Amino acid sequence: MFDSKKSVVQEVRISFLNKTNKKLFIKRDDLIDEFVSGNKWRKLKYNIEHALQLGKKGILTFGGAYSNHLLASAAACKEYGLNSIGIVRGEELTLDSNEMLKKCSELGMHLVFVSRNEYSNRTENNFIQYYKAEFPEFYLVPEGGANYYGIIGCQEIMREAGFDFDRVFIAQGTTTTSCGILTSLKNGMRLSVIPVLKGYDSLGEMKKLLNYSGFEQDWVNDLLTLVDVHSESHFGGYGKYNSTLLELMESFYKETSIPLDPVYTGKLIHALYEYCLTTSEIEEKILIIHTGGISGGRQISLSEGYVFN
Ligand SMILES: *Cc1c(COP(=O)(O)O)cnc(C)c1O
Repeated sequence: MFDSKKSVVQEVRISFLNKTNKKLFIKRDDLIDEFVSGNKWRKLKYNIEHALQLGKKGILTFGGAYSNHLLASAAACKEYGLNSIGIVRGEELTLDSNEMLKKCSELGMHLVFVSRNEYSNRTENNFIQYYKAEFPEFYLVPEGGANYYGIIGCQEIMREAGFDFDRVFIAQGTTTTSCGILTSLKNGMRLSVIPVLKGYDSLGEMKKLLNYSGFEQDWVNDLLTLVDVHSESHFGGYGKYNSTLLELMESFYKETSIPLDPVYTGKLIHALYEYCLTTSEIEEKILIIHTGGISGGRQISLSEGYVFN
């Protein structure tokens, strides 16, 4: 199935670091699978196991028009012999609107397009109840796999990487992956989170998700003191980028042969560079988590922007 042994830890050697006292390592979750890339498999693993345990026919989940989560859900369900339904934001969209939706459909996902207004109610109880009643044989996974099972799947990232690091860098969408990492830290390690949305309340959202998932409140409050939020690398908001970011990604790729995506991991590297520059004298061993985002042959091109090849 999907083998996390492919996610190796590598030392990253870049000239940029020569001026600093930092040592850099990267956990390559992007290598897990072509479509179920990076943290998306971590978040789905126990959700899928639970759906199978419940004897459900499939998984119903939610996402935007370019959702890595929908694509991963479609591919993972296919692999496990489950059906999949994707509730997609945007009633004007069709199966042919973009390569991501086309691929989801090819992988057997049934796509339901809903208005932005209806979609924005997706976590509200009546909306959830509606889909549960409409598709009783499907197990509902929240957008981005943001639930208890998503978090415990992400705890495995650090268990595989080991705990011989001072700091971990991770990009944030729903915060599920960062919550999994935070709840598995040891030995005084700190966590650097990079929200890719503008004006995002990282600590508030993490606290909400951890409490909702049943983690003890006092422990959650203690854990959150280990988090540093890098809120200045969003480049204008979700999915936004400019030539500075693309150039940074390209130069990182040239030196390391590690591809990045402009939505998450590119912004992570931007925040990492800024951090290393301002704290260059502090000796630290840093682990960055490559959460993927380059599935299905998506590539970045400096002249054309974000393209499929
Ligand atoms: C979805 C995604 C994230 C965000 O993960 P969350 O668990 O939602 O915070 C980060 N990086 C990549 C590449 C992603 O596709």
